[in-house]
Amino acid sequence: MEHKSDLLNWYNHKKLDNNADLQNYFLDYHPEMPVFYYVITRNGEIINGDESFPEIRGNVLRLINGWNPKNKEVRHETIKMGNGKSMSLLLSGKSVFKNNVYIGTIYTGTNITMQIYIVKVLVTVLFAISVIFIGLSILLGYYMSGKAMVPIVNAFQRQKEFVTNASHELRTPLSILQSSLEVIEADEREKLGEFSLQVFDDMKDELRRMTKLINDLLLLARSDANAIKLTKEWFPLTPIIDELIRKCRPLAEKKHIKFSTNIQGNIAIYGDKERIIQLLFILLDNAVKYNIENGYINITIKHEQKNVKIEISDTGIGIPSEHQKFIFERFYRVDQSRSRNQQGNGIGLSIAKWIVDAHGGTIHVQSEEGKGSRFIITLPQTTNLKIGVK
Ligand code: ADP
Repeated sequence: MEHKSDLLNWYNHKKLDNNADLQNYFLDYHPEMPVFYYVITRNGEIINGDESFPEIRGNVLRLINGWNPKNKEVRHETIKMGNGKSMSLLLSGKSVFKNNVYIGTIYTGTNITMQIYIVKVLVTVLFAISVIFIGLSILLGYYMSGKAMVPIVNAFQRQKEFVTNASHELRTPLSILQSSLEVIEADEREKLGEFSLQVFDDMKDELRRMTKLINDLLLLARSDANAIKLTKEWFPLTPIIDELIRKCRPLAEKKHIKFSTNIQGNIAIYGDKERIIQLLFILLDNAVKYNIENGYINITIKHEQKNVKIEISDTGIGIPSEHQKFIFERFYRVDQSRSRNQQGNGIGLSIAKWIVDAHGGTIHVQSEEGKGSRFIITLPQTTNLKIGVK
């Protein structure tokens, strides 16, 4: 450090003798890579020191002015140089006492600009490398899982094709059986004995159930393949509800279930009529199936903002809360034992959900076990709602 004399001249210090103790104390001080060290008396006079960059002296003295460093205290400071660059400094100091009387402080500082720069570069490089590695591993993972999924996707595809084909193939023999039974019924019903009549009616029921199952499976398979196009039109809901209640009444009457409706005006909606009928039938059929003796079913339909809101509530056995989020999944049936005496296969609500989704609506359930269930559907009506369509 060549600037020692310059530094001392700068202060033009005249009291060196008075500070001999302090000065001597620091004669043994050999910092390894200092940028500066200053020995400053308690009166703020520099009595010894050295520096590598005289141009930063003013800044450094301002920084350490009034600073009484604690034991092992280190400060990190950045100062602006004349050339516009910054210098990072680590500052530390030590107070010196003689006979327990504070006589001054030695301050020292080290330039760590390069180290900080290296650390910053390393962090940036590490960050860039991590991003590249994460990107690569995502790509690799995607590629590998894609490869691993190929057989599963193929098998699933084949299974879907099988269901579609099988359902399709089964429809023809089922409809032949259906019409054959109708012919026999028309011609021979009176000639049948009581037992044969019972067998005949059971056959008709089973055939109806099978036809419905096949149709449902075919619908799901076709919806998976996006092969179903909705045919939308405006149509009024009241006549549909009346007809559906008529359809459900025979089964409902067996359990003495009563229907009530609360339909706002002559609400019409814009959607695929056949699908909406299917949706409402699934919900009404369930409301009857899972209802109790002498129970009630209410159908409420109203406008709510830009939606038509349909609520179907029953006073039936209800759905335990832990099952409610699963009931719209395929083949899900709540507690097999309680559903056993009800015909069904867990497809109905998944079809209902598909129909609602296809119309851009929502469906959810509120239910309490032992008290009943309420299915709430909202169907958005983007064009102006039409009320009073005949
Ligand atoms: P399925 O009725 O053929 O079993 P769904 O998909 O229509 O199939 O219904 C799934 C399950 O949700 C049913 O098995 C039944 O346990 C329950 N569930 C549906 N609707 C009701 C309801 N209104 N009340 C009580 N439970 C219901």
